[in-house]
Amino acid sequence: MRVVVVGAGLAGLTAAVDLMAAGAEVKVLEARDRVGGRMHGVPISTSVMADAGAAYLGARHTELLAMIEEYGLDLVATDMVGGSTFLVSDQRRTSASRLPPLDVVALGDLFDRLEGLVTQVRPDAPWQSQDASRLDRLTVARWLEDEVEHPDARIFCPLFLGEMMAADPAEISVLHMAFYLRSGGGIRYLNAFEGGAQQWRIDGGAHLLCLALADRLGDRVQLGVRVCAIKQDVDEVVVQCVSPGDGVSSEYRADQVVAAIPPLLAQGIDFRPGLRVPRATGATGRGCAIKVHLSYPAPIWRAQGLSGWSVSDQGPLLSTVDDSPPDESAGILTGFVTGAAASAFSVLSPNEQRVAAISQISRLFPTLPPPTGYSVTDWLADEYSRGCYAALFGPGDWLRLGPTLTEPHGRVHWAGTETSLEFFGLMEGAIRSGRRVASELIRGAELVADTRKVMTHDISR
Ligand SMILES: Cc1cc2nc3c(=O)[nH]c(=O)nc-3n(C[C@H](O)[C@H](O)[C@H](O)COP(=O)(O)OP(=O)(O)OC[C@H]3O[C@@H](n4cnc5c(N)ncnc54)[C@H](O)[C@@H]3O)c2cc1C
Repeated sequence: MRVVVVGAGLAGLTAAVDLMAAGAEVKVLEARDRVGGRMHGVPISTSVMADAGAAYLGARHTELLAMIEEYGLDLVATDMVGGSTFLVSDQRRTSASRLPPLDVVALGDLFDRLEGLVTQVRPDAPWQSQDASRLDRLTVARWLEDEVEHPDARIFCPLFLGEMMAADPAEISVLHMAFYLRSGGGIRYLNAFEGGAQQWRIDGGAHLLCLALADRLGDRVQLGVRVCAIKQDVDEVVVQCVSPGDGVSSEYRADQVVAAIPPLLAQGIDFRPGLRVPRATGATGRGCAIKVHLSYPAPIWRAQGLSGWSVSDQGPLLSTVDDSPPDESAGILTGFVTGAAASAFSVLSPNEQRVAAISQISRLFPTLPPPTGYSVTDWLADEYSRGCYAALFGPGDWLRLGPTLTEPHGRVHWAGTETSLEFFGLMEGAIRSGRRVASELIRGAELVADTRKVMTHDISR
């Protein structure tokens, strides 16, 4: 079986390795000049890398943990020892709690309401949840306006969704929010560092996992080729590409294709015959996340009793996390600019961004010296992601797109974290989608082989 995999992110690479192991002839086509997609390392110094994309994982991410072990990578605990820092209504405070100093009863009430929605959603078929049609049409912003009165809960909800989903409440449906939170293990699990979905990082950077998978695939991975059209007939499928560097066209022939790319990018490919159901609609959002890395000679804030964790109600950095390497050879604060704040930050000049980020850090941590290093990774401007952390399903999307999320289009099969109902949007979801699609194809090939055997046997009798 000849298989072309479109996209060398975690999903595509996982599928390709499984297919190769089953004896398939595999080619992975990747538009960028690197593998890893939304898993990407940026250098902080000659020996230290930071995660510009995905970083955190927890004990329930069983496929990811197994893969990390298989490839000999190590985990680093996400260090949360020490006090949190908050900048709310222009007031700086530190506290032992991870929650900002807002009305506790109002936040409790908000969490109860969110929990109610999360319990209501069907994780295996969100589009069949109770009241799915209404929840799919309703944006979270509207829901907040109609159902959540306390101003502190209204301040907190966008911050929470920004941190969890990189989502602007105006862009996502209530059904998507509830599904995402459920799919990731529930509100408490997703939100927690110790014992939760953010317990560890991969030592040296999450991208190392993709490099290891790509290494196993060797020259089966072709970089710098953007797939622009996929044409199929009864005999085979032809994948047409263009090289973003020099505009040179190329063509690959296969029996099956795995499209392991985010839905908004899949929607941009010219499929012949055309798709029966789109992969994305005008309501599908791309998710807005920008990571700002500020580096220091060491994690100096720890000696001051601070964890490096902060939350601000005004951007650009809505939260910060200590992502320093375990040997403390550098101090790294990762600033998250998400949701509407990311859209505003993205249009600033590099100098304006730098001034805004550094002046906020000096308000959050006034005793820190100026950072020795600074970098920005703007995923909004990234033409090969269009969904960071993941695509956001807007009003109407789950009912329209959900039922056919994994349904093959003839010889084209779908993977990518946005096709996984388990851990949707996360690295774990990407791996599970890759595994699912590979076994779908392997089972299909075995069925064809069995049928051929039976037919040959019948004819020869
Ligand atoms: C800032 C940020 C923070 C995140 N934090 C976390 C986290 O802490 N924990 C976690 O679990 N997850 C996190 N994620 C999400 C995680 O990165 C993704 O779920 C996962 O990497 C998705 O993998 P994928 O293979 O499905 O998609 P991708 O990584 O997007 O891979 C798709 C690949 O396809 C390529 N491609 C696209 N179009 C074409 C085309 N036409 N032709 C050829 N190639 C194409 C792309 O270049 C890309 O390499 C984060 C993401 C971001 C951006």
